[in-house]
Amino acid sequence: MGEYKHQSGDEAAADTRLAEFLPLHRPFIGEEEIAEVVDTLRSGWLTLGPKTALFEEKFAGALGVDHAVAVSSCTAALHLILDALGVGPGDEVITSPYTFTSTIASILYTGAKVVLADTLADYPNIDPHEIERCLCERTRVILPIHIGGAPCDLDRISEIAETVGAAVVEDAAHALPAWYKGRRIGTIGRATAFSLYAGKNITTGEGGVVTTSDAVLAETIRKRRLHGMSRDAWRRYSAVGSWYYEVTERGFKYNMTDINAAIGLHQLDRLEGFHRRRVNLVGLYRELLEGVAGVIVPSPPPYGDSAWHLFAIGIDGSVVSCDRGQVIEELRADNIGTSVHFIPAHHHPHYQAVLGCKEADFPNASRLYGASLTLPLFPTMEEEDVRCVARSLVRIMQEHRR
Ligand SMILES: *Cc1c(COP(=O)(O)O)cnc(C)c1O
Repeated sequence: MGEYKHQSGDEAAADTRLAEFLPLHRPFIGEEEIAEVVDTLRSGWLTLGPKTALFEEKFAGALGVDHAVAVSSCTAALHLILDALGVGPGDEVITSPYTFTSTIASILYTGAKVVLADTLADYPNIDPHEIERCLCERTRVILPIHIGGAPCDLDRISEIAETVGAAVVEDAAHALPAWYKGRRIGTIGRATAFSLYAGKNITTGEGGVVTTSDAVLAETIRKRRLHGMSRDAWRRYSAVGSWYYEVTERGFKYNMTDINAAIGLHQLDRLEGFHRRRVNLVGLYRELLEGVAGVIVPSPPPYGDSAWHLFAIGIDGSVVSCDRGQVIEELRADNIGTSVHFIPAHHHPHYQAVLGCKEADFPNASRLYGASLTLPLFPTMEEEDVRCVARSLVRIMQEHRR
């Protein structure tokens, strides 16, 4: 990196600016996905049906889990899991403020109380010690989020949950595929929610999946994702279906569609290849950024292998005089897209009002948020793109060195 000596602003910016905008993420859709969607459109069966069933089978097979239920989003998946576990008013669910709004909203949908526990000091996953402080006899669920795809300490969290008979439900929106002590995320907790949103590791456009080894829970979720109707109600308009169905419980309209499942069938074929690519790109980022003054490179997760959904660095304010927001602007000027994952729940006005929390309440989450910056990472990104991002970042850090 020696060639990037301090230069005057304009010259330097011209030096590291990309010719074309490099986004934070770009989904990859192949010809197979396109052909399968066209096939679905021509088949006459557009919504929940045979392709969704096939997708579920393939998803469960890929993870090695007994049951996978496909739904309309990860938000819906979380809500359905909590609902099927009977979580409601008077119950408490412990989660971390360092997450996307969905996690918190899905708990509020049930009428249960959201209890926030701060993150670890050096990584934005929930801190088991903080969970213990929040635990009480009303705790029904502990809901950890594997931020960026790095697994939380699930053994420790399960032990804590057992002391009060609570269930562990995982927000694994980022953790496809990820491993905790050699076991796949999605096969460990009572139930796990995955996201297939356009920005996630694999996508169906919009979509989510619940995985569980609990047959009764899976069946309840299967029913409640489609109005609480009896099992094969989706077939009622087909040649083998019957017009008769029963609504046996309160349900929701949270089903996946066959159009989405058609995309997912082929995205699943790409899961391991995409993952290897992410691991390689992260390795290169690490090589180029480790030791760069002002940049805090994330350490590999201590309990397993990350899905590397995000490559989020920290900006060290004791070394450089610019803040995270300024780095975002300067990277943008170099044609590089970035983002921040996440603005914690206790910084949002709605949750401050509803949960009665304030910005000072969770110092680790707030500090990590304040310094965090997510760099571009997606499987079709070139190694040269990673080098360009690193060059730009090195220049910015050198210009603002204290
Ligand atoms: C994306 C995301 C969700 C929501 O996923 P949807 O499929 O869009 O509902 C939930 N939790 C986290 C941590 C996410 O990043």
